[in-house]
Amino acid sequence: MAAPIVAIVGRPNVGKSTIFNRMAGERIAIVEDMPGVTRDRLYASAEWLNYDFRMIDTGGIEIGDAPFLAEIRGQVELALDEADLIVMVVSGREGLTEADEVVAKMLYKTDKPVVLAVNKVDNPEMRNDIYDFYALGLGDPFPVSGSHGIGLGDLLDEVVKHFPDEAAEQEDEAIRFSIIGRPNVGKSSIVNAMLGEKRVIVSDIEGTTRDAIDTRFVTPDGDEFVMVDTAGMRKRGKIYENTEKYSVMRAMKAIDDSNVILMVLDAEAGIREQDKHVAGFAHDAGRAMIIVVNKWDAIEKDDHTMSDFENLIRDEFKFLDYAPIVFVSAKTGQRLDRLPQLVKDVDDNHRKRIGSSTLNDVIMDAIAINPTPSDNGRRLRVYYATQVAVQPPTFVIFVNDVELMHFSYERFLENKIREAFDFTGTPIKLIVRARK
Ligand code: GDP
Ligand code: GDP
Repeated sequence: MAAPIVAIVGRPNVGKSTIFNRMAGERIAIVEDMPGVTRDRLYASAEWLNYDFRMIDTGGIEIGDAPFLAEIRGQVELALDEADLIVMVVSGREGLTEADEVVAKMLYKTDKPVVLAVNKVDNPEMRNDIYDFYALGLGDPFPVSGSHGIGLGDLLDEVVKHFPDEAAEQEDEAIRFSIIGRPNVGKSSIVNAMLGEKRVIVSDIEGTTRDAIDTRFVTPDGDEFVMVDTAGMRKRGKIYENTEKYSVMRAMKAIDDSNVILMVLDAEAGIREQDKHVAGFAHDAGRAMIIVVNKWDAIEKDDHTMSDFENLIRDEFKFLDYAPIVFVSAKTGQRLDRLPQLVKDVDDNHRKRIGSSTLNDVIMDAIAINPTPSDNGRRLRVYYATQVAVQPPTFVIFVNDVELMHFSYERFLENKIREAFDFTGTPIKLIVRARK
């Protein structure tokens, strides 16, 4: 399930982000459509030869006012903690530097594979300049040019050689979820309260290859869950730990590894910009979502408080209109016992399949009450709809002309699908195709 993570390290200006952006290729364009995420493109999904993996550009983690070498050390430390494989980048133009040696020395201590890329080798004549880098003791250097896109294929071939066999992945019945949110909203408190509940059996704590801590537990009803490790639960004291980009990166990683996301808000502190940022990524990734409002004990309440807060959330997170909202207190335990069942329900909805004939009945009934739009005398005709994927449920609608489908009509059809079937907690995707 969890794709391998490749970290790109090296001193500043060798071309780490240039290489990162090249390797992420078109995938990153999808992420860039998302407001707010653009600036944080230090984490991306990538694909090579049918291998899916994630990349971290450690150069994007700027560590406040740390001195030059301390900053590089912090970045390499992060790479060693988070990644399964390290790509060290040096510059063929500038040649070997002392800072390169500092980075290499830190990498000697790891048993994770390290691949050495010599960047800025923009033309074949420069290939002779790579031999100096054997002195780093990290094996064969791979000449590349990030800005010209040369040599990256060979580099990626080498990278994927080190990935574990997919055969190692096992089918797992457990529902994977994670608890995300900005610092101090109460994530750890919720985790501790959920796992501390007397009737919950925590069956084991698994260390995976990159020593993430996933916790497996079984509820009194016999449902099995894996709680995916989230930000703020470990690594306290590391130099990079308190940077905002790091916490966003951890949240993105947790989202990628989970089927269901519990997004925690703080009732006392209210909604902040950073909350939307992280929620946007989860939505974009197509995960099932639950909004958890924590610290409900800490505020003054009357009979409007809950519905007011709910309206505020609906207003601020318009794109999450499908996510149920639960008001809890990690401190008193209020309503925490509802979370496992809710996770299970939205997970079921996320994997739900609707038969084509039932689906088409719903679509045709919808069209009967609200006729399709037309433009210049040409009317949209909807021929047929079918579900093509789950997690999230994805529907293809075949029409005469894609241009005639308006966003508002698509929205109307989505609402009708949601009225007919329970898709609480999951985004659904509609893809409109012209029938040939
Ligand atoms: P980072 O600090 O390691 O992330 O480096 P950047 O990716 O920001 O690149 C630093 C500088 O090197 C920029 O001015 C890039 O345009 C330049 N650069 C990156 N890759 C290449 C390359 O393959 N050839 C040349 N000539 N310049 C490059
Ligand atoms: P995290 O950074 O999101 O993991 O947040 P923590 O779990 O460390 O909690 C941050 C602070 O909020 C701590 O001081 C907690 O005691 C407090 N806190 C967490 N949950 C609750 C709650 O439900 N009610 C109240 N009143 N305080 C809480």
